[in-house]
Amino acid sequence: MNPFHHKDGELYAEDVPLRRIAEDVGTPCYVYSSAAITERYQRYATSLSGLNARIYYSVKANSNQAVIATLGRLGAGADVVSVGEMYRALKAGIAAKDIVFAGVGKTRDEMVAALQAGIHQFNVESRGELLTLNETAVSLGKRAPTVLRINPDVDAKTHAKISTGKAENKFGIDIAHAAEIYAEAASLPGIEIIGLACHIGSQLLDIAPYRSAFAKLADLTRQLRGSGLTVGRIDLGGGIGVSYRGEQTISIDDYTTAVMETVGNLGVQLEMEPGRSIVADAGLLLAKVINVKEGVSRKFVIVDAAMNDLIRPALYEAYHEILPIRAPGDDARVERVDVVGPICESGDLFAEQRPMPPVSPGDLVAFCTAGAYGAVMASTYNTRPIAPEVMVKGGEYQVVRPRLSYDTMIGQDVVPSWL
Ligand SMILES: *Cc1c(COP(=O)(O)O)cnc(C)c1O
Repeated sequence: MNPFHHKDGELYAEDVPLRRIAEDVGTPCYVYSSAAITERYQRYATSLSGLNARIYYSVKANSNQAVIATLGRLGAGADVVSVGEMYRALKAGIAAKDIVFAGVGKTRDEMVAALQAGIHQFNVESRGELLTLNETAVSLGKRAPTVLRINPDVDAKTHAKISTGKAENKFGIDIAHAAEIYAEAASLPGIEIIGLACHIGSQLLDIAPYRSAFAKLADLTRQLRGSGLTVGRIDLGGGIGVSYRGEQTISIDDYTTAVMETVGNLGVQLEMEPGRSIVADAGLLLAKVINVKEGVSRKFVIVDAAMNDLIRPALYEAYHEILPIRAPGDDARVERVDVVGPICESGDLFAEQRPMPPVSPGDLVAFCTAGAYGAVMASTYNTRPIAPEVMVKGGEYQVVRPRLSYDTMIGQDVVPSWL
């Protein structure tokens, strides 16, 4: 289902006209569909139901508590990469026993907080981190439930900035050293070594890299078991891509088949950490055209959203479909325009030479597929208030994060007493 559709010439989120949200809340503004988030989660839950598998929603894709709580009610756990995300997940009602803590640079303080909270699992990414976690746990009189994140050295064939499973990436333990470190982990008093993990990247559109990564984990599992070690759990990470511009992506059923055929008969508990594929196309960024400027060689559509609201185009050269809220007539001509924000950076560019129906100042537009890695990456650059977030459910909607006020934003600074 697509939660965003035109009805009587206007773009709706479920049963709410986006124009109404824009008038009520202002622009720029993120809008999420509760029904779409639910459906995307259920797709995983249904497809994986025949396996001993559990879903830990990757909170970094969209950490609004409304989103986490929606998924928590459906039975999801949370995959966090910082203690801040752990606190958010707890606040949103996810129990500590349903939280997985991943990330390449956990600090000792973060380990203490997560051990005291009693989380489900630490995904450890290096020998150094393993030793620190061991010491920290021992000092608290605890044992840390741990899986080792393996870097399987496969090319996920995704954007360089979101590829994480190649030997030259900073993530995970080299597969060549994994057995040795796993054996060491089994001997440490503060570590309860449970199994293995991997996460090879994000926005994967091809199943082949998953297959080879999972097959390598299966081989490693057999090798470890052969030397008398116990492997009871495998965390398969996240990363399934979404269609930003009509590209073919991985079907969840194909993914499940790949899982079954590689690690399905090891008798381990399986975990997945999807983020983007649950929330990306359940959200959009609503913006208003401020001005249309005729340059010497190009036409610029200047909108009131900017790279501080949605940094993906600037950071990853990402493509977001841009839809006018008022559906263009069938005979509308199309012109090529650059869609830009007001920030003083040439990189504040959402789309270059994009064919669009003509728009005028005051018109509303939507940046589609912005539910993941959108609001979470927002900043106040250029002293722009963080955009509000709205969640729609049927014919209802609520502001789930208000716009940051100028007073709050500016009130954070402290002028030193010597001035
Ligand atoms: C980011 C991340 C995920 C989620 O990736 P998506 O591409 O959003 O599904 C899962 N696991 C880990 C360890 C991550 O860092």
